[in-house]
Amino acid sequence: MDTGSISGLVLAGGRGSRMGNVDKGLQPFRGATMVEHVLARLRPQVGPLAISANRNLDTYRALGAMVLPDELPDGVPDYPGPLAGLAAGLAHCATPFLLAVPCDSPFLPPDLAQRLLAALEDNDADVAYAATREPGMRVQPHPVFCLVRASRLPELAAYLEGGGRRVDGWHRELKSVEVLFEDGDAFRNINTPEELQLMDDTAPAGAQSLSQVASCISGYDPDALSVRDAQRIIGQFVQPVRAVEMVALRSSLGRVLARDIVSPINVPAHDNSAMDGYALRGADLPADGSASFKVVDTVYAGRPSAIIAGPGQCVRIMTGGVMPAGCDTVLPQEFADSISDDSITLRAGVIRAGDNRRLAGEDLAAGSAALTAGRVIRPADLGLVASLGFAEVPVQRRLRVAFFSTGDELRSIGEPLGEGCVYDSNRYTIYGMLQRLGCEIIDMGIVRDSPQALEEALRTACENADAIVTSGGVSVGAADYTKQVMAQLGDVTFWKIGMRPGRPLAFGRIHSNGRSAFLFGLPGNPVAVMVSFYFFAREALLRMMGAEAPLPLLRARSGGAIRKKAGRTEYQRGIVTRGEDGVPEVRITGSQGSGILRSMSEANCMVVLHDEQGNVAAGDMVDILPFEGLF
Ligand code: AMP
Ligand code: MG
Repeated sequence: MDTGSISGLVLAGGRGSRMGNVDKGLQPFRGATMVEHVLARLRPQVGPLAISANRNLDTYRALGAMVLPDELPDGVPDYPGPLAGLAAGLAHCATPFLLAVPCDSPFLPPDLAQRLLAALEDNDADVAYAATREPGMRVQPHPVFCLVRASRLPELAAYLEGGGRRVDGWHRELKSVEVLFEDGDAFRNINTPEELQLMDDTAPAGAQSLSQVASCISGYDPDALSVRDAQRIIGQFVQPVRAVEMVALRSSLGRVLARDIVSPINVPAHDNSAMDGYALRGADLPADGSASFKVVDTVYAGRPSAIIAGPGQCVRIMTGGVMPAGCDTVLPQEFADSISDDSITLRAGVIRAGDNRRLAGEDLAAGSAALTAGRVIRPADLGLVASLGFAEVPVQRRLRVAFFSTGDELRSIGEPLGEGCVYDSNRYTIYGMLQRLGCEIIDMGIVRDSPQALEEALRTACENADAIVTSGGVSVGAADYTKQVMAQLGDVTFWKIGMRPGRPLAFGRIHSNGRSAFLFGLPGNPVAVMVSFYFFAREALLRMMGAEAPLPLLRARSGGAIRKKAGRTEYQRGIVTRGEDGVPEVRITGSQGSGILRSMSEANCMVVLHDEQGNVAAGDMVDILPFEGLF
């Protein structure tokens, strides 16, 4: 390929508002600035190389590329985003093609120019841009990664003058071709300081270590940590993985909304009737006695009337019908005293002025947030979004979670069960719990109790996932080499938590080959693993997914006495039913051993007895966590 025919352009202009108004391109990342990573990847692919920037021009110049401040065509009053950089790049482009990339994409593919140029030439197009598709997802275009014929500057100027501000919008004015790349991560861009920190595996300045976070807890002792303090440390240490994708409305069910959904319209769009009846002027309602109204027209839902109702007139109207001009009140037909073809009568006092009218914007006013970022999308939300006319929804990309079980005694289903062996059940409960959270799951099976096997599994998991959940191997006795291996791979702490079941827990963040992942090392006992997942991993994973969804603890009356030691949190499996007086009543299920999974299956809730609580007497109120509806 003739790289000399392509000029490279790194888009480093913009306002960087999500980075807290800092200059994105100059943010430190893995020992250099972000823009340096981009330049290094782009340089071999192109001839001349330029950076479009509006601030810190000397710093950018020092990087050895030409620096182009925005130059907007006449008649473009406001800042038009990345297109401003493209306009400057095209204006200075001395080669037939210009390849633009954003400055916050340090992983861009090494064959970007080559593949875009091939597609552009094969299709005799004006512009070629990158796209990716994650398994099972729709195609995600990355229009800012584009190769353009330099001769298309006049079209860009015209698009900007006409008020166009979107890169994809401009592409649509041209002959464009989309080029599918396999590696979605190559186009991952970094938008926020949190993301930068999360992705920077070289322990960036300012990133807090686990011990720094833990030092905020007064009297911190890893060997005697309360549930609450462990939850606080985990919550502070994990970071959201911010990566947004647009999905079709139906596919957004259960996903985390990434941006507020702002209503572009009033819902309902017009004042309309809440009843089948007669629209009239509230001022005409009789103070006493009765009054007659002449029926002058009929309105059906979706078919408004052109008539303006005058004094003493009314319009027959169906539910949802647009209120005719002049009318502000609806008489439900069953409230009329008499109805004939062309008139009705009603008595004083049956309705008041303004009754049975829904106001425009009553459900949602144009410009207001219908749904706010961070919520997990439910069926009602699908309907709400549909009512605004949106076909697609911005959601967080699915969190990738790798998990495996450890233990020499474990066998997979289908294998013969030798003496002293057990089937691996944790892998299935963890699968179920992760699936309910809407994670993308990487099941890594069983890992033998050996340092080499564990290290290899952790590295693979780390390089492919945002978070890792393991079970087994963290209890005393088993823990020695687990600790060594985990600690060697990153910042991991081993806790003994004041709880039952599920005392041991490993938590932290590990690194491998430039990638990092949060690690939840759960205990091996089948009940302990579920309790630890629900009370430590669940909320942290949701937080990484950008969602805030605290555990829905409810109150119930204890049907019997429960023995409980103060000073630790106990989780008992319970069955909650509606008591005779309607108050929820909970009873503990049979055997409560931490290995007895049947107790979890039989239960429909967990009774949560907090640190400070002692024995519970029959009739006392306790906290419960219902399993139904838990995700
Ligand atoms: P550990 O934490 O590795 O000492 O395991 C504690 C107990 O849980 C032992 O009795 C293990 O056999 C059991 N266990 C560990 N992992 C699993 C698993 N994946 N499925 C079923 N039982 C397990
Ligand atoms: Mg084990």
